[in-house]
Amino acid sequence: MKKNAKIFALGLLIGILATGFTFIKLNPLANQLVVSVFWYQHSNEKKALYLQGFNLAKHAIDQTLANYHGSKPLAVIVDIDETVLDNSPYETFLIKNGQSFTHKTWDKWVREARANPTPGAVEFTKYAQQKGVEVFYITNRREKNRQYTLVNLQNQGFAFADSAHLLMRTNTSDKTARRQKVQSKYHVVCYIGDSMGDFDRKYVDDKDAALLYQDVDSFGTKYIVMPNPMYGHWIYLRYPKDVLTDEQKAKYRIQLLED
Ligand SMILES: [Mg+2]
Repeated sequence: MKKNAKIFALGLLIGILATGFTFIKLNPLANQLVVSVFWYQHSNEKKALYLQGFNLAKHAIDQTLANYHGSKPLAVIVDIDETVLDNSPYETFLIKNGQSFTHKTWDKWVREARANPTPGAVEFTKYAQQKGVEVFYITNRREKNRQYTLVNLQNQGFAFADSAHLLMRTNTSDKTARRQKVQSKYHVVCYIGDSMGDFDRKYVDDKDAALLYQDVDSFGTKYIVMPNPMYGHWIYLRYPKDVLTDEQKAKYRIQLLED
């Protein structure tokens, strides 16, 4: 080991000890979440994927502006959580407190209204605005959290962060009707999200990805997919949501891994 590396290793050890390294009793699911959150918060690959996604969306806007001759004004539809706002500190909370998701703790986080934007998100909404393209935020956050969500978006400087451009969860998490509401008045250039339900409901239960592969040309053009390895409907495609205990889920996930 070179001298600098030794000093670094020693410094790291002292740092860990000095910050009072404590053994956190991990919830079995939270335990499995650690690498996902670590990647999401610390990898440049994740940052680059967001920038890449928003660049594709800008390109879609430019292409549409050059070729579109319809009468409807243009819009883009974006999801909020893990698309334009980064809620990974909430996942950190779950890990460090040995908990799994509850609406109670999630609402508390949402009401703090301090989520940071994902890389390139604010700039993208401003780019759309400059080009005369409206941005609609379609989220499955609940109606009671509308004001907190708006404050968070406004404080971060997002364009179109107003109630007219924010469509919260209705009596269903299915976003189809809300998309249709926008589509009735606007030509939608592209859809940006971290969950297949942000694009088309049909993909949500597409267990073997057959429908996805039928639409290969749509991804990166009409549908821009952002990375979220922390949570999503993809988990519940593999086992029922409310039947297994956290410990059983954690074990079952390992069983599902392919050799
Ligand atoms: Mg999302």
